[in-house]
Amino acid sequence: MISFMIKNRSLNEPSLSTSKKRALHGTFLHITDFHPDPYYIANSTIKSKCHGGHPKNKKPRFAGTWGTSISSCDSPMSLVNATFNWLERNWKDKLDFIIWTGDNSRHDNDNNNPRTSHEIFELNRMIASKFLETFSTRGIRGKNKPQVIPIVPSIGNHDIFPNNILSPGPNDILATIYKIWEPFIPGNQRATFLKGGYYYTEVIPKKLMVISLNTLYFYNSNTAVSGCKAPKQPGTIEMEWLTNVLKQARKRGMKVYLTGHIAPRKKQYTKSCYRAYKKISIKFHDLILGHYYGHSNMDHFFFIGANKDLGKFKHYIEDYTEDYDNYDKEQFKTLVNKSPSKINKYLAKLYNHYRSVPPLTEGVGKEYAVVHINPSIIPVFYPALRVFKYNTTENKRPKSHDPNAPSHINTFLTPLGYTQYFINLTVSNLFPDEEPEYVVEYTTWGDYHMKDLTVPSWINLARKVTNKKLSQNVRNVLWKKIEDNLVVGTKPLIETQSIESLSKEPEDFYDF
Ligand SMILES: [Zn+2]
Ligand SMILES: [Zn+2]
Repeated sequence: MISFMIKNRSLNEPSLSTSKKRALHGTFLHITDFHPDPYYIANSTIKSKCHGGHPKNKKPRFAGTWGTSISSCDSPMSLVNATFNWLERNWKDKLDFIIWTGDNSRHDNDNNNPRTSHEIFELNRMIASKFLETFSTRGIRGKNKPQVIPIVPSIGNHDIFPNNILSPGPNDILATIYKIWEPFIPGNQRATFLKGGYYYTEVIPKKLMVISLNTLYFYNSNTAVSGCKAPKQPGTIEMEWLTNVLKQARKRGMKVYLTGHIAPRKKQYTKSCYRAYKKISIKFHDLILGHYYGHSNMDHFFFIGANKDLGKFKHYIEDYTEDYDNYDKEQFKTLVNKSPSKINKYLAKLYNHYRSVPPLTEGVGKEYAVVHINPSIIPVFYPALRVFKYNTTENKRPKSHDPNAPSHINTFLTPLGYTQYFINLTVSNLFPDEEPEYVVEYTTWGDYHMKDLTVPSWINLARKVTNKKLSQNVRNVLWKKIEDNLVVGTKPLIETQSIESLSKEPEDFYDF
């Protein structure tokens, strides 16, 4: 019998503090894919999904106390608790808001312990409570309700039953998730959420809005819906809603971060939804300052752009491809000569994608948006999270719609960089009695030499790692970092493991 039921929260439930003026710290957290597993048993076999059994062979790999990297096991509760404890010790009262992009239950990968919808919602309730407990501040002398900083969750494909399938709303699933997330969703967004599972929060009132998209209506594995073209499809309605919210935001002089679980990739979205997302990103590039997603576990960034307008840069582009799901072995030969593992193939695609970005001449930047994939807490690789810095210096000039601006120049609310923190589980599991701490893995300013996270800065980085005119040394050092970071420092582990379990179940590995 598992015991992760939590007590009713309603009495001391903190209320969302978006209305009062708060001093800004200039930092926010992006965290994703907890995948907590109450069945996880330390020292059991990996074959059992870390759910039991005793290792038989001489050199067994078994479930570590704090989690098991390069396996298809989910997160032990010890890791979830260590994560929130670390956040409380280090970041409580230091963050302005939190982006939290879904998958708060375990995978359905164990036939002996199939998931139920009850379990999925209980695990979601448990993670939601942990956010509230960790980031709530007490009311003054018990008189005021506790307050919590804006926390913006979005729905993952593993937060629903069955996986991936969500019918148009309103429906019971959205109603149940709403109940769990009520402390996070602004009251005026209730009806929107109940109907579509998406909403926005003004994380800095009248200035910055984080839009939480329900990407399940764009996801090509969701067979209950069909794209973003037919008028009554929930995807179409969501894109229309998004367009309207962005128009309003532009009118009010606000800036926007877009967030959700599944990133806009050709491989993951239906064709019409991918196109619609791309179009909107470019059309509103003057106010969308970031695109933050989870689901894929691998730390990386990629570009989306409006193909039709790229014609004018034709003389730069020999092989423009936005579709980094295509693998061109020839072009990558010089960098990857090891066995073409799935990860190396993925890296090859990414390299080709970066290679196809034209140099940053007049107008090029405006044709692109940059999508960020955050690494996960579930230790597919090592568990990791990001703390972003953003620009809090308010520009006093009158608000005006400047199409050359903000996703392209460093200004008020521009993300400036992030520190990625991780836990090296190989080391931590040697000390089962010592709760691990997250430590710095890398920073965008230190390791990628980026002065901010505007679109031109990302284009420059992509160009630096692939431009043959630059010194090979510079290119190799940077590319090596991108390679290592993609798998959160577990490359040596991947290369020494037979990774049998991985090649058998790539869907668990990538969470696609
Ligand atoms: Zn996931
Ligand atoms: Zn997912």
